[in-house]
This record gives sequence, C-alpha cells and structure tokens, in this order.
Amino acid sequence: MTDAMADGALAEIAARIGRIRERIARAAERAHRDPATVRLIGAAKGMPAPVVRAAVAAGLTDIGENYVQEADAVRSGVEQQACWHMIGHIQRNKAARAATLFDVVQTVDRAALGEVLARHAAEAGKVLPVLVEVNVAGEVTKRGVAAREVAALVAELRKQPALRVDGLMAIPPAADERAARGYFRALRELRDANALTELSMGMSDDFEIAIEEGATMVRVGRAIFGDRP
Ligand SMILES: *Cc1c(COP(=O)(O)O)cnc(C)c1O
Repeated sequence: MTDAMADGALAEIAARIGRIRERIARAAERAHRDPATVRLIGAAKGMPAPVVRAAVAAGLTDIGENYVQEADAVRSGVEQQACWHMIGHIQRNKAARAATLFDVVQTVDRAALGEVLARHAAEAGKVLPVLVEVNVAGEVTKRGVAAREVAALVAELRKQPALRVDGLMAIPPAADERAARGYFRALRELRDANALTELSMGMSDDFEIAIEEGATMVRVGRAIFGDRP
C-alpha cells in the first residue's frame, strides 16, 4: 500500500464513523432516547494497529476485539486512550490475560469463566465490568447462555467482588426486520428482569433497529472498517 492509498483509506474510515454517528443519533431520536446513551464500539477483528489508530484518531472511543492474542498486539500499537471490549469467545487458557488486557468483557457465558476472570482481575487490583452473553434464539451452533439461565448466571457472577455485572450481550441470528426486533425486544426484557443497565446488541446491518429497541452499545465492524480481508 502506498502512503497516498493508506491516507485515502484512513480518511474513508473517519467519514464512515461520522455517518454512523448520524444514523445512531437519528435512530435514538426515533425512539425518544438521548443519543449519548448509545456507545459505538468499533468491531476491529482482523484490522491492524494503524487502522485502529486511525479510527481512534477519528473519534472512536470504544474498540471491540474477538481474540486475546490479536487484541494484545493491536492494543500495544495504539497509543491513544480507548476503552477495549472483549467481544469474542474466551478459551479457558486465555481468561487470565483477558482479565488484565480488556476494560470490559462482554462474553461471559459460564460461571467458571467468571471465576477465572474475577481471580485475575483481583490480582491486578481492578474491578472488571462484564456482560453476560445470551443465546437469545437458542441456536445450537452459538455461544451464550440460554435465556432461562441468565438469572442464575447473573446471580453467580454478582458473588464475585472483582466483577461488576453491567448487562447483556447477544448476537441474534440474521433475520428480517420483524424477527430482529423480536430478538432485541426479548433481550431488553431480560435485561430489565435482571435489573441490569447495559444492552450490547446490533451490528452493521441492524444497529438502528437495535437502538430503537434499547441497545446501549452497538458493535459495528464492516460499516466502519469495510469488508474484512
Ligand atoms: C464481527 C463482529 C461484530 C461486527 O459485525 P459487522 O457485521 O461487521 O458489523 C459484532 N459483534 C461481534 C461479536 C463480532 O464478532
């Protein structure tokens, strides 16, 4: 890549972030919500540090990563301040590193993982904000705890002083607008039933619907960074 091409690509990322923020604001207004209550998380899997750096320079404050090792490498190449979210599945042998590397872990789907995260967060002298990942449509191929098991897992995690259970996260199946709305609404009701605040749902294709249904965090990848290599 020549420098001129790189500059063009980076300017394009800044422009896309601006357009997404406008769409977030309009979706929030339709739902009579304050746009400031919706956090835009850039889902940066596969993106190298210079690209993530450009997004942060363009005003992106929150970065989502799917893999501990990749996040480790990218984060060390991004010197600006940002909030780093783990949005991918965490293997047991990566949980210790995840607890110290990330500012928020969105994918807690079992009590045993919560225990390991809590132990290492405590050792690092921090309280780790976490979300519970929900398998909202009961798909056999997907991670996440079943809707009927959310309350029990939240109760277990709340016993850990080194964790702060903030809310729920989900990746519902690709669906038409009506079905997507149904999944998002079910998640909002689950959040409310468990007295939680955060709701991480909605991606490039459906973040506006998610906001209309109450999302407080949207995880947007392709619409910011373009198609993944
Ligand atoms: C990749 C990814 C996203 C973003 O998906 P896009 O369709 O590229 O916006 C959001 N959440 C998770 C967990 C992801 O892995």
